[in-house]
Order: sequence, then structure tokens, then C-alpha cells
Amino acid sequence: MMQLNSQPKLIEPPAGELVEAFAAIVGRDHVAFGPAARTAYSRDLWPRTTLQMEGGEFEYPPLLVVWPGSVEEVRAAVLEAMKQNLPVVPYGAGSGVAGGAAPSQGGVVLDLKRLDQVLYLDEVSHLVTAEAGIVGEIFERELNRRGFTLGHFPSSIYCSSLGGWLAARSAGQLSAKYGKIEDMVKSLQVVLPDGRLLETLTVPRVAGSPDWNQVFVGSEGTLGVITRATLRVWPYPASRRFQAFLFPSISSGLQAFREMLQSDLRPAAMRLYDPVDTFFSGKAKTMEHALPAEEPARRSLEEISHDEGRHREKKDRLGYLPRRLMPFLFQPRLVNLLLDRPKVCKMVLTFEGEPEITALELAQAQRIGAKLLAKDLGEGPARHWWEKRYQVSYAMSVAFDLGLFADTIEVATLWENLENLYQAIRQAIQPHAFVMAHFSHAYPQGCSIYFTFSAGGRTLKQRIERYDRIWEAALNACVETGGTITHHHGVGLLKAKWLKKEQGGAHPILLGLKQTLDPKGLMNPGKLGI
Ligand SMILES: Cc1cc2nc3c(=O)[nH]c(=O)nc-3n(C[C@H](O)[C@H](O)[C@H](O)COP(=O)(O)OP(=O)(O)OC[C@H]3O[C@@H](n4cnc5c(N)ncnc54)[C@H](O)[C@@H]3O)c2cc1C
Repeated sequence: MMQLNSQPKLIEPPAGELVEAFAAIVGRDHVAFGPAARTAYSRDLWPRTTLQMEGGEFEYPPLLVVWPGSVEEVRAAVLEAMKQNLPVVPYGAGSGVAGGAAPSQGGVVLDLKRLDQVLYLDEVSHLVTAEAGIVGEIFERELNRRGFTLGHFPSSIYCSSLGGWLAARSAGQLSAKYGKIEDMVKSLQVVLPDGRLLETLTVPRVAGSPDWNQVFVGSEGTLGVITRATLRVWPYPASRRFQAFLFPSISSGLQAFREMLQSDLRPAAMRLYDPVDTFFSGKAKTMEHALPAEEPARRSLEEISHDEGRHREKKDRLGYLPRRLMPFLFQPRLVNLLLDRPKVCKMVLTFEGEPEITALELAQAQRIGAKLLAKDLGEGPARHWWEKRYQVSYAMSVAFDLGLFADTIEVATLWENLENLYQAIRQAIQPHAFVMAHFSHAYPQGCSIYFTFSAGGRTLKQRIERYDRIWEAALNACVETGGTITHHHGVGLLKAKWLKKEQGGAHPILLGLKQTLDPKGLMNPGKLGI
């Protein structure tokens, strides 16, 4: 239960002059400093803070929340905060899962959501320019309406923003074909900590200096506020095809991924479930309702939203991790042992683009599958995944409702190290939590692994301690095995200490850049280990 009255940090209002100073910039209606706003903006979706909130603890309340309505207002608000020596925390939609948008040193939260316009679609060069606060779903719908797609579909598309994607180096479900957000961005507009406006040139490629776009991509709000971006777009695909396989082992499934990508095949979605995740997601699940054999790529986000509604009731009844399993999560070693017995792994693939090309890609994937002794499951399970692809992430809240916790860890490494990394992290988590994984976001050189873990604890304190132990064990194992600690969720507060280790000699360069751009250290302090 929330106990706001026991939180003196929250109920102590900021000085009236401070509120007035920001109200003069953005208007009185666009400044909030009451307990409700400060509670809501005291965190993002980092599961540790969900647990803390359960105990009525709001560790990071900001002083006030400000909603600028233009780039000029962003500049003025940043300058005002600097003048007052207040930290500034850029805030997209708050869907980050590592504490990146948590105002860990108080100050002003700058919510960008009023900057939500698609400004220009260049149909000749296939580029779109949009404001940073636009929410993913709205952005994609607008592009679809005009015959294009961004190709960026994070599971959080309904509750994350363009600025947040860029600042945290997000990856969408179709990244094998369309790339991560850093592959899409062509230019940026950024408000620097001293109020200057940096605008990079929109050109296909540059030489002669570091790529300044990439300096700000992944900077998690520590170097400035991204206000606008120009990104590559693709024509909306004319066809979409589906294929699923059952592989006899993780090794053979990963070999298939590698052979596909290294023979220049570019499926849109590529997912290989480990044996436990295969067990839970179902080996051969097919669609509940028939779709035409070669469905044209016409299922818009709107139709998916309706499906979400239709399935939500069922999800609420069952939850993603079946409730019957929940009591056993207090015995993670036993559950992991039992569920690891079958070795088969399900793979789902989707292909999209011109019909002639997707037909060829599908045939090539089938050849590789057959060569590696995979059972051909047809298209059913892949279509099933497509239909439900936004549901799984949102079902994790069921675990919290039941007095447990759940979270995900996304790491990456080269093909030759991938199974080592998988085993190392799995073994690190296993004593503490139920764990399963899938492999997705694959490249010719390597692949990411996405672990989901869940566990309980008799008291809230025990749950939080266990949560911390799991992350400690998993990321230590990751660093020791040579993987990156984050493929797309970012660093925030959660992974700061491991980032320093991972970056080695590059970390002082980041600190130097920070010192140059933000000598007072007020832009989103504490993030990226700065
Ligand atoms: C259910 C669920 C599913 C998810 N699935 C995915 C997924 O498939 N792929 C994926 O990549 N991530 C996923 N995430 C994580 C999250 O959605 C991403 O990290 C996303 O990029 C965050 O966007 P946001 O707008 O919510 O950013 P926020 O959480 O508001 O902020 C994230 C970071 O970016 C900074 N920031 C935000 N806006 C700006 C700006 N305009 N300028 C400068 N800095 C800024 C913040 O200070 C913070 O450090 C998921 C999260 C949830 C809850």
C-alpha cells in the first residue's frame, strides 16, 4: 500500500518561486509538483522500484515535473534548471526497465510527450523527421497510413517514445531485417546542457569525424535532451510469410540462425526458444482462428490492439507463468531441473517484403532447417507468435500480484561464445530463480540472449535481496564470459557498475565528454555510471 504521508520528501512542496520560474516558461498547466505527480515520476518500470513501491517506498521523487511544448521551451527549461543547480531528467514514456528515467538525485523531470509531431516524410529518400516525445504506436500508425513503416517494434511500442528509443538504444522485434534504432537514425536535434541547439546534418553517410548521432544515441539523457530525429523508413511490406521449426538442440537451432544470416538471408523476426521457454510457449501452438494462407501484410497496429483486448481476459485468468506453477517458484532449483529435461527448441521466423523475395527467403530457410534435422512445424506457431507478440511482456505483472517478482536480462556476444554465455548466466541465476531464455536479435556475427527470471521470498525485504543477488550473479557471469551487459534495455542505475568494467579504457573518454558538455553534472546524474 502507498503511504504518502510517511514520505516527507514527497509532501514537502518546492518553493513557490521555483514553480513560478518554470510556469513562466511552459505555462502553469504544464508544471506539477503535488504528491501524485512526484510519486508517478519517481521511477520508470525498473522492477526493483516496483518491489520498493509495494512497501510504500519511493526512493527517487523529483522536485517537480515539467512538460515543455516546443524546442524553445526545452532550452529555456534546461537553462532555468542549470541556473538553479537542479538535476534535469529527460523523460520519454517511462517504460525503461533499468532506472534510466528515475530522478535519482531529485530535480526536474522534463517530460517530452508534448513534442509529438511527425514533421516531414521524405518519400524520395525514404526518411521521416519526428519530434522525440511521440509514442511508438502513434508514430508507426501515421507512417502506415502513408504507406511506410519504421520497422521498429519493441514490445513496449504502446508505451515508449522515439526519444527514449534513441537514448537507450532500443531494439524492435523485427531487428534482424530493419536493424536497431541506432541503424535507423540519420540525424538528430539535441538541446545541450548549456542550452545550445545541436543539429546534425542529414546525409546518407559521413567521414572525417566521429558520428555525432551515435555519440548521443545511447547517452540515456546524460549529455542533452533529444528533441527531434530523422530516421530511415521502409515501404510498408507487400507480403509477410511465417515458418516454424523444432530443433533437436540449442546448438542446432543456433547453427541454423547463423547459416541463415551468413548466407544473406534476412528474416524480419528470428526467435529460438530454449527448452524451458519452448515448454512454456508451446511446441506446436497454432492460430485459434484461420488466416488466409499468404496473408498480405495488412494487419495494422489497430487490429492488433483489438486482439490484445480480446485476449486480455484470458491472460488475466491464467497469467503467462501458469498460476499452478507459482508455489514452486519458491523452489527454483527443483523447477529448473525438472523443466530442463526435454532438449528440443522451437524456432519462429517471419519474412516480409516483396512477395518474390519472401518466397525465396522462406525456401532457403526451409532448406537450412531440413539440413539440420529440424522438424518442420509449418507456419502455425510463427503466426501464433505474431498474433500474441505484444502480450508476454505485459503479463509479467501477474508475478508481482502473486507476491513474486520477474525481470529480464538481455545480453549479447559472438556466435562462438554464445552457448558459453547462455550456460554461464543460466547457471548463475538457477540457484536463485526460475529461469528461461530465448535467442533473438541475431546478426551475421552473433546474437542476443533474452533471459526471463522469476522468484519469490517470504518477505518484501527477502524478495529485494534475492532480486539484487540474481542481477549481481548474472552480470558478473556475463562480464567474465565476455558478453555485453545490455543489448537493448540500457544501463540506467541498475547496470552502472558493470558498464564501467565493460567499457574499460573508453569510460574515462565518456567522463571527459560529460565534463565538457555538462561541467555541473546536472544532466540525468548517476546514469551510465557517471
Ligand atoms: C513491457 C515492456 C516491454 C519492453 N520491450 C522492449 C523491447 O522490445 N525493446 C527494447 O529496446 N526495449 C524494451 N523495453 C524497454 C523500454 O521500452 C525501452 O528502453 C525504451 O527505449 C524506453 O523508451 P521510453 O520513451 O519509455 O524512455 P524512458 O523510460 O522515459 O527513458 C529511457 C532513458 O532515456 C532517456 N530519455 C528519454 N527521452 C529522452 C530524450 N528525448 N532525450 C534524451 N534522453 C531521453 C531517459 O532519461 C532515460 O535515461 C520494454 C519495456 C517494457 C516495460
